[in-house]
Amino acid sequence: MRKKIVAGNWKMNNDLVQSEALIAELLTKLPQTTAEVMIAPTFVNLATAVQKTKASKVEVIAQNMHFAENGAYTGEISAQMLASIGVKTTILGHSERREYFNETDEALTKKVDTALKHKMRVVFCIGEKLAERKANKHFDVVKEQIEKALFHLSAQAWQSVILAYEPVWAIGTGETATPEQAQEMHAFIRKIIADKYGNEVAQNVSILYGGSANPKNAKDIFAQKDVDGGLIGGASLKADDFVAVISAI
Ligand code: PEP
Repeated sequence: MRKKIVAGNWKMNNDLVQSEALIAELLTKLPQTTAEVMIAPTFVNLATAVQKTKASKVEVIAQNMHFAENGAYTGEISAQMLASIGVKTTILGHSERREYFNETDEALTKKVDTALKHKMRVVFCIGEKLAERKANKHFDVVKEQIEKALFHLSAQAWQSVILAYEPVWAIGTGETATPEQAQEMHAFIRKIIADKYGNEVAQNVSILYGGSANPKNAKDIFAQKDVDGGLIGGASLKADDFVAVISAI
């Protein structure tokens, strides 16, 4: 059966001292849960975070990586570099990467391939902008994002893919998709995967919801049958809030 996952995306927040303090508090307060718990600190704090969480169930994951193996890509980080410090999972295709760093579907396809080649798991983000939802194009947009970056993969490769549906209009805005809107899109995503790969692959893919999820709304969202957890931004920056979200699953 597919896994329940709660992942905290710290984005460009927390210096070394703050990261260590947040991890320490999180580990003290972490509730008993069968869900996987992940945190994604900034690149510079990943190695320390891996060390600090070693004896816990918290997995430290990256927020991004480059598609090339190595070479003249100033400022970039490779899959091998991540693997060498014990990072086994990366977020890819976050809407902020797409929007502010011009990440295209083509680049994301290459990133996915490189990550999988290095036996990393991928938390792949998809989601429509507000204008696209208003124009009733949200299903088409999400379908195209998945098709372009992931539908060249084998059924076997999907074991390393976790999806995060993040409507862009709900990220960091305080505006959440309703539980019904989340369920509707998650069911749609599972259906297009089933149509392409069959029911077994579709039923085994964890699909997380992301977009202003917090201790108040997480329970209702996580209760939806096709919602398998959350990718949490703002609420993952405070141990008490993140722990409350984890407890809601
Ligand atoms: C995110 O950036 O992945 C996210 C869901 O952010 P927030 O929870 O702050 O909306």
